[in-house]
Amino acid sequence: MTTNIPVLVPTLPTADALLPYLRRIDQSNWYSNNGPLLQEFSRTFASFLSARTDAGGELYVAPVVNGTIAIELALRQRIKHANGVVLMPAYTFVATAHAVANAGFEPFLLDIEEETLALSPRLAKAALATTPNVVAVVAVSPFGGPIDIPAWEAFEAETGIPVVFDAAAAATSLNHIGDQPVCLSLHATKVFAMGEAGAVVSRDEATIKRILGMAGFGFDGPARTALYRGGNYKCSEYVAAMGLAMLGDIERKLDNLQRMTRLYKEGIGNAARLQPGCGDNWVTITTNVVVDDGAVDATLARFDAEGVQWRRWYGEGCHKQPAFEATRRSDLSVTERIARRTIGVPFHEKLSDAQIGKICSLIRG
Ligand SMILES: *Cc1c(COP(=O)(O)O)cnc(C)c1O
Repeated sequence: MTTNIPVLVPTLPTADALLPYLRRIDQSNWYSNNGPLLQEFSRTFASFLSARTDAGGELYVAPVVNGTIAIELALRQRIKHANGVVLMPAYTFVATAHAVANAGFEPFLLDIEEETLALSPRLAKAALATTPNVVAVVAVSPFGGPIDIPAWEAFEAETGIPVVFDAAAAATSLNHIGDQPVCLSLHATKVFAMGEAGAVVSRDEATIKRILGMAGFGFDGPARTALYRGGNYKCSEYVAAMGLAMLGDIERKLDNLQRMTRLYKEGIGNAARLQPGCGDNWVTITTNVVVDDGAVDATLARFDAEGVQWRRWYGEGCHKQPAFEATRRSDLSVTERIARRTIGVPFHEKLSDAQIGKICSLIRG
């Protein structure tokens, strides 16, 4: 008999966990526009992130409607030109490319490093030498893996090209946050899950203040005067309630996900690899295994035969999506090779240890 093991089952705060916060909204009659719950969430989420990253002064958080908008606003804040080319990896969720294009810039797709699955300063520098009119780089956290932010700080210091981080799935795995804006997704399918939300995080207060202003019609403070271009990308008090409830559960959730990732790591043995440090130094809400080229088809056939759902979370790269197939790009040979071999396996809190054991045995073949 075939089992049916879904690849993802989101688990968000329950109605009971939300209720005390909803009652506070009833009391305050304050429903949006940086209300008391959102202010509390911004403060406590900043402390949470600060405690997980290296010390280095205050951390500032701009909560926004989603992770895609976080990237758009961070690009608009950092790029002083009206148009130009933004370098980004082809191997990412397609939201990165949408954000670049919607902010008014031309995405240019680059390859990744085989080991980390990430765009590196080395590859970006090589592209700079041959691509005119580059105005920024979006460095992406692959599936929530940590980004080498200090290396990108050195890149920006050396080249003068602003860097923005799409760390959508990496809210709990970064070990450094500096002045360059870090964009997070707090979507239902991400590790710090609030339904639909996102945030821009930085140690530079002016950057975050400006992005908060852009998220609220270009107003800066209580004056109803648009000082610069923006829109409405604010979070309501109901979203903040989700965030505060999530903060109450996140340490338990991370411990559990870490334990499950270790089971995967031990279970797959040498038959496949996880991303560097995954399960030891960091954990997120998906687990992706990189299998040998020759084993891909057989592994997926065993998954299908046993009802084990799997997913290539980034597909085969943005350049394979019809909306971006005409987008300019560099040589993408590592992306082409790695995308085929990188498989998201079932990973969520409804998964039993026995199911993980079974999935690992299918990977081992
Ligand atoms: C999830 C994700 C996004 C988009 O975040 P939303 O909150 O869904 O808009 C962007 N980039 C990457 C790499 C993601 O994983």
